[in-house]
Amino acid sequence: MRSHDAAERKTRRPDPSPAPFRSGAWMRILLVEDEIEFAATLRGALERELFVVDHVDRLDLAREAVLSYAYDLVLLDRTLPDGDGLSLIADLRADHPGLPIIVLSARGDVLDRVAGLDQGADDYLKKPFALDEMFARIRAVKRRPTDLHIEEIHVGALVFDVANEEATVAGIRLDLPRREVRVLATLVKRRGRTVLRESLEQAVYGFDDEVQSNTLDSHVSRLRRKLTEAGADVEIHPIRGVGYLLRAAS
Ligand code: CA
Repeated sequence: MRSHDAAERKTRRPDPSPAPFRSGAWMRILLVEDEIEFAATLRGALERELFVVDHVDRLDLAREAVLSYAYDLVLLDRTLPDGDGLSLIADLRADHPGLPIIVLSARGDVLDRVAGLDQGADDYLKKPFALDEMFARIRAVKRRPTDLHIEEIHVGALVFDVANEEATVAGIRLDLPRREVRVLATLVKRRGRTVLRESLEQAVYGFDDEVQSNTLDSHVSRLRRKLTEAGADVEIHPIRGVGYLLRAAS
């Protein structure tokens, strides 16, 4: 991903004055767009509203990105160098059923829009559009109830309630501090795959927090111990220099 330098993100301050309730606070957006100037304009506007933006210009990079980060929203162009953006939607829907997707496309006649919505997009915005309209559409999709997608994830003997972010083993709820729950949620949602340290740090801290790199490791080791004590039958493997991977104990 061209857009994110880890060191930059760890140290940046989005705003010198406290303004925690701007519309994008805490939301992470994946912007898939190959028109570089247009992408830069969107990104600037989104970052002013305190969205965290990752920009990619190809579908294959978008697929990689969603494996590594927990996004709150995808803004998706259609005409991309390696295919039609709509082809990404089905992939996203399989693994991330509740992830809102807004298609941004110059192809905006009725049939195009119907195709996009039928494919599973939450909204379809025809280019060119006013930034205010884009923000209004983002607010609208974020207001939709996500409890249609309540799901429980089972790994080993662990049951993770995604909507309530609660972990139980054999019907007993694990009493975990907030940051350990966030780490667990991020790992469980991508069970069986390596989750980057950055992604876990992002889940645990606001992007304007300083992150001590050893703090994540201590959260993980406490979490691992509690899971073992509860008989969860899951393993959290360190992937040296990269991140962690959670899976059922073998
Ligand atoms: Ca394009």
